[in-house]
Amino acid sequence: MHAPATVRTRVTIPLRFADGYRVDADAVTFHGLVDGLEHVALVLGTPSPGDTPLVRLHSECLTGDAFGSARCDCGPQLREAVERIADAGGVLLYLRQEGRGIGLYNKLDAYALQDGGLDTYAANTALGLPEDARDYAAAAQMLGALGLGGVDLLSNNPDKAAQLRGYGVDVRETRATGVFASGSNLRYLRAKVEHTGHTIELAS
Ligand SMILES: [Zn+2]
Repeated sequence: MHAPATVRTRVTIPLRFADGYRVDADAVTFHGLVDGLEHVALVLGTPSPGDTPLVRLHSECLTGDAFGSARCDCGPQLREAVERIADAGGVLLYLRQEGRGIGLYNKLDAYALQDGGLDTYAANTALGLPEDARDYAAAAQMLGALGLGGVDLLSNNPDKAAQLRGYGVDVRETRATGVFASGSNLRYLRAKVEHTGHTIELAS
């Protein structure tokens, strides 16, 4: 366990997505996050009394989240998560872990190798980088600073729930996210399933 983080600023941001969906989020920043990165929490909606807040850990993906890249499914996953969390009440943790923690330039290097035939994980290995460099200690600190004792997790990635539990977060249920397959990202999604036990069903 790490020292607790504290809330630095909480400010309302009106979100509006490309498809017209709108919702107000409270953006929360923190003091004392263990990795020193500027992660931000978006508090969305309010859980009904007795309900467990719904939480998603979303790793930053500049190409997918901001530019709408179809090489991955991050943009549609973010869009889905915001609405589902706003409906249920909960928090989206936007984690500055571009390219599963390897950074933007390395991610684009890996894309170039993938165009030569490697999958997303083999490309990282060829670059001497870890398949997945993400650690969720700061995410656990953010949930603690927000006073969330127990959470339901919106995720297909078993490593997120396992790590959070290891850091003392009471993960009660995990709920699957949708699958956003396209011609451009199918190979990427299959690699996620084969390498990391992601629980996504893909038509073969
Ligand atoms: Zn992405």
